[in-house]
Amino acid sequence: MNDLTQQDIKYLKGVGPKRAELLAQELDIHSYYDLLYDFPFRYIDRSKIYRIADVAGDSLPSMQFKGRFITFTPHGEGRKRRLHALFSDGTGTIECVWFNRVKSIQESYKTGIEYIIYGQPKPYNGTYSIIHPEVDVYHPETAPKGLVGIYNLTDKLRNRNFTSRTLQKLVASVLQSPAIDALRDPLTPKMLARRNLLPLREAITSIHLPATVELMQRAQFRFKYEELFFLELNIIKNVKGRNAKLPGFVFAHIGDCFNGFYKRGLKFPLTGAQKRVIKEIRADLGSGRQMNRLLQGDVGSGKTIVAFLTMLIAIDNGYQACIMAPTEILATQHYESISEMAAVVGVNVGLLTGSTGKRERDRLHAGLLDGSIQILIGTHALIEDSVQWRNLGLAVIDEQHRFGVAQRARLWRKNTTPPHVLVMTATPIPRTLSMTVYGDLDVSVIDELPPGRKPVTTRLRYEKDRQEVYHFVGTELRHGRQAYIVYPLIEENEKLDLKDLMDGYETICQTFPHYRVVYVHGKMKPKEKNAQMELFASGKAQILVATTVIEVGVNVPNASVMVIENAERFGLSQLHQLRGRVGRGADQSYCILMSKYQISSDTRHRLQVMVDSCDGFKIAEEDMKLRGPGDMEGTQQSGIAFSLNIANLATDGPIVEMARNDAMTVLDADPELQSPQGQVLNQHLNFLFGRKVNWGLIS
Ligand code: ADP
Ligand code: MG
Repeated sequence: MNDLTQQDIKYLKGVGPKRAELLAQELDIHSYYDLLYDFPFRYIDRSKIYRIADVAGDSLPSMQFKGRFITFTPHGEGRKRRLHALFSDGTGTIECVWFNRVKSIQESYKTGIEYIIYGQPKPYNGTYSIIHPEVDVYHPETAPKGLVGIYNLTDKLRNRNFTSRTLQKLVASVLQSPAIDALRDPLTPKMLARRNLLPLREAITSIHLPATVELMQRAQFRFKYEELFFLELNIIKNVKGRNAKLPGFVFAHIGDCFNGFYKRGLKFPLTGAQKRVIKEIRADLGSGRQMNRLLQGDVGSGKTIVAFLTMLIAIDNGYQACIMAPTEILATQHYESISEMAAVVGVNVGLLTGSTGKRERDRLHAGLLDGSIQILIGTHALIEDSVQWRNLGLAVIDEQHRFGVAQRARLWRKNTTPPHVLVMTATPIPRTLSMTVYGDLDVSVIDELPPGRKPVTTRLRYEKDRQEVYHFVGTELRHGRQAYIVYPLIEENEKLDLKDLMDGYETICQTFPHYRVVYVHGKMKPKEKNAQMELFASGKAQILVATTVIEVGVNVPNASVMVIENAERFGLSQLHQLRGRVGRGADQSYCILMSKYQISSDTRHRLQVMVDSCDGFKIAEEDMKLRGPGDMEGTQQSGIAFSLNIANLATDGPIVEMARNDAMTVLDADPELQSPQGQVLNQHLNFLFGRKVNWGLIS
């Protein structure tokens, strides 16, 4: 790496040991390089000077004015001391207010001199005032003009009079120092030319001190590309290394099980998306390399049948298969639906969970070893060491985000050659994110729901509407449908949340005396929980009051209403998962979001997204915009703590794709990055990721 990374910031003109310590502590800036790569997060336009007479409205941006101070008037005493100044530009007056440094401001600003003031005018007592404006003596040459970058600062820095301008001046001083000659562009000239990118030095100048909007945007584009390119390069390089090492079983033929089930067992035609995905999987299974595929599909899109057909291919080739589900309820449901399908072609299925008794466990162990059990369905119990296989060839993992990476790895060791792995998730992850986070997995998407599904009608309701909501639920029940009532439960608030749930249960029992009401929550013993769930699943109970334990996978097609209490406390993707529990049958289904009336605008937006859309991918994109990708479900569990400096996965999808393609092209030509240009890239890669987690090895 170029030695700007070794240049200690404390030797930069205008810094010194004290400020250096502050920069290191507050902004993690240690070297010249760190400073240059600390970009503004937004820009303000200082090219326009407004007339005070033109200021109107009550929600204004920051603006600048040119004029003179007319009066300075201190108010208040002690801690309440403040300074008011009247500022005139000849067209009108505006008030400036300071709460700090009253004395020094009063001493340094003069009446009669021309100043530029900058800040956000707020309506106040029939006029406008600006709190803590930026003030500069007006010189036609040095007045700030054009775009000015705004940097992230901390309170501590602000208290020490560190402003965006301070940082800008420091950057300018690096750019003027002889050290800058050591700056080397990590991107090759070929790449710059191909993507029409600004060279590094120009880009640094234009991102900190842009001459025009266009240059600023080109600089941003370059740094986004650079960041994403190295991210992808790192992922793909590691994946290539791993794939090269891992051969896989070849499932060459399609036999009686698959064909027999396809002809006699399928109760519905597959959707186009299901067929396409099965083709993608078949190509993997025949390739001679281990499959690591992520199957994404919105709730209800029909992933189970795809998994089942894949398992039949394994069996046709003489191998065994398993499905691992995150909860006992889900494993049991899979067992029920899959053993029914498997019976059509005489395939033997077992169920292994934490509550499987000793005798049944022994029988399963024996059956797996002698190969008489061809499919095993279960919870984590099936990765225990005592579970030995005759010839495990395929492992399906349902609802991926509940499983850690380490658990996936344990599955691999169940055979001398690691089995093929199909990971299914209903957490719709935006494509840009999955390409990056699951860069090591190939991704298939079922982007089509089975025909005849009606989108779930979603409504937002408040406490005052409660009777009307119950009335509606009653109507559905009378038509023979079932209902979920869901309560939030978070650990910090567990006691109160459980009380809410139990109070709710009481109310529901009283409101619907003629129906059977059951409840489940995560604190119940599995046996008890399963018994209650079973009552609901079989239709013996009509209302299920529950916490989010029902979020994943539960399939009761007759349930047509879901009421979500305190919906404002749920995240978007969680709401979407929950809502996916209804709308699984042919009837119109409903989701009612109950919320407090007083909620923040972000929360209102979130709930409105749910009302407006049933598309899991759209919702995931919105979620990512609201929360930032670091918080997305699935990214944390994947063990990747990553933060991007400038690129934004939610909005920079096209750049991600471009960077990914380019990284692949580079690695196809030079897999070990050994060419002279490859070495430059590799050095930078080591500089960037050498200290951090090695993403590619994570799964
Ligand atoms: P998920 O993707 O959420 O796991 P499931 O596999 O549980 O979805 O499927 C949801 C429901 O849709 C099941 O009842 C299943 O039988 C049904 N289904 C799946 N594929 C089709 C299809 N092509 N046509 C009609 N119904 C389908
Ligand atoms: Mg499922």
